[in-house]
Amino acid sequence: MAKKEQTAEQKKKKVSVEPVIEQSVNTTDKTESGELPVEQKLTNLYRLQLMLSEIDKIKTLRGELPFEVQDLEDEVAGLQTRIHNFQLDAKDLDTTIGQQRIKITDANASIEKYQAQLDNVRNNREFDNLSKEIEYQGLEVELADKRIREFTHEAKILGEEIQKCKKLYEERQADLKSKKEELDEIISETKIQEEQMREKAKQLETTIEPRLLSAFKRIRKSARNGLGVVYIQRDACGGCFNKIPPQRQLDIKLRKKTIVCEHCGRIIIDPALAGVEE
Ligand SMILES: [Zn+2]
Repeated sequence: MAKKEQTAEQKKKKVSVEPVIEQSVNTTDKTESGELPVEQKLTNLYRLQLMLSEIDKIKTLRGELPFEVQDLEDEVAGLQTRIHNFQLDAKDLDTTIGQQRIKITDANASIEKYQAQLDNVRNNREFDNLSKEIEYQGLEVELADKRIREFTHEAKILGEEIQKCKKLYEERQADLKSKKEELDEIISETKIQEEQMREKAKQLETTIEPRLLSAFKRIRKSARNGLGVVYIQRDACGGCFNKIPPQRQLDIKLRKKTIVCEHCGRIIIDPALAGVEE
């Protein structure tokens, strides 16, 4: 790294005349007021990038699993509620059917009673009245029978629905169990590693100036590979692989200001700062 700085020093005067790149964060003025030199900031930012990339890798390992587990949990809970409600409906139907059966028993008892009274009628009016009553009770029995048939049919359909739901519930429950186990396994394997990484990343973040950090986070969010800081690779941006003009490459190697890629907006550092040999 020391050797690179020497080269940088030599070019310094020439470079300082170059217009400051629009999106670059110039912090060189502040170094005397106790702030970290740009080089150190970039190093910290790059270290942060490496850690966040590791965490990204762990997340990729989990993939869609956390969402799948959440979806299955929702579905299982929904099925449970549905089964419960159907069972309440089935109970209501049973009660209603029972009530209709009582109606039939009562009506049949009345019919028997009236028929016995028919043997002892004293006049036609009494006979007519009793006959009408018997007819009426007979209709009541018919009606109750019809209702029982309807409700029984309903109960049968409901029962089938409950069975279907229960089967689905069991399938989903089994899916959920295996997905959860899979996820738990990945989490337990990577948990400590991830926690350590997150802790380190948090510490590093405190050493990075808020403006630079938020710019970095914004770039990272919009970048598909999650890289906010990249180094020069074969004279090109390590993020979008567009060529970087030689003068700009020199600026980057000077490490005196934060320079971003003209094409993708990623912060570019020189390979040596990233600990990579060119
Ligand atoms: Zn780029």
